[in-house]
Amino acid sequence: MEISITPSSAAVSDERLAEILANPGFGLHFTDHMFTVEWTPDSGWHGARIEPYGPLTLDPATAVLHYAQETFEGMKAYRHDDGSIWSFRPEENAQRMVRSSHRLALPVLEVDDFIQAVDALVAVDKRWVPDPAGEKSLYLRPFMFASEKFLGVRPSQHVTFMVIASPAGAYFKGGLKPVTLWLTEEYTRAGRGGMGAAKTGGNYASSLVAQQEAIGHGCDQVVFLDGQEGRYVEELGGMNMYYVFDDGHIVTPETGTILEGITRSSIIELAGKLGHQVEERKFSIDEWREGVTSGRITEIFACGTAAVVTPVGELRSREGTVPAPASTDFTTRVRQALVDIQYGRAEDTFGWMHQI
Ligand code: PMP
Repeated sequence: MEISITPSSAAVSDERLAEILANPGFGLHFTDHMFTVEWTPDSGWHGARIEPYGPLTLDPATAVLHYAQETFEGMKAYRHDDGSIWSFRPEENAQRMVRSSHRLALPVLEVDDFIQAVDALVAVDKRWVPDPAGEKSLYLRPFMFASEKFLGVRPSQHVTFMVIASPAGAYFKGGLKPVTLWLTEEYTRAGRGGMGAAKTGGNYASSLVAQQEAIGHGCDQVVFLDGQEGRYVEELGGMNMYYVFDDGHIVTPETGTILEGITRSSIIELAGKLGHQVEERKFSIDEWREGVTSGRITEIFACGTAAVVTPVGELRSREGTVPAPASTDFTTRVRQALVDIQYGRAEDTFGWMHQI
């Protein structure tokens, strides 16, 4: 893919950038440039370009605004201590976008083109990749949307893929703190044949009211159960779940209706290497209650790109509260192992890191 580059003439000053990178927060500040490529059935992907970051002009009839035909990804670029810049398993994000786009009837963007687009934007905006202290990173948001001006309900004949980037601070500022979860029994995020496994805006739109319910009950995040039986734990609004048992084996809910997290699949491999047996299977809310009460479940954690790994504390629901499990030993260990690989402080024996 040939990418034309138009440098910004209004790039943020070094002084302002230093201020931003000192305290980036999340999703608040955007780099000087953005990547765009467009698709039509006749020309395929064309017009790849990096240009100054700025607002889009969209016709009010643009399809995505009405029917939410869109997919996205979330990943990070990490600066290592020697100044080099790396991403973590970008081909996994690229492949997941292919799967999501298939479900949303969007065209395939080849894995190599996805990675090239992300790499090119990070290279142009490399001064925005924070120093590694305090687990800072540059969050990358590739996304694809129906950009045809047409109100009929059918797959868009004009599609736009873009990448934007935003510096991100440490998820946990004062050390690892367990998240308190609310079990929603009213709302589900996925059903059989639905789009729960796709990374698409509608799944997040539908999670918001449940997340509000969680906050209303004094909890940090919401847990979703399966849509058919309402018995099996699926995932959080933006993270996958893990359960550690007293005999060392580990369980994570099976795929199908959950988002197949890249952190989740990396932990399956890491845990195996650390000598733990990992089962991907259905995991019921009753097993959660009984396991923590009996002490058979010693740790519960959630995982995703943003927080990497976070211990799970109390589970609250209308039926009462399940207390936090006793330990966070494995949780802490697996988190450190992943962070060390991402920041180049441990040998990348899996070949997960990609230099930009
Ligand atoms: N589940 C959902 C619903 C998510 O939004 C995310 C974040 N992408 C995850 C799980 C974790 O996925 P990953 O490890 O790839 O960030």
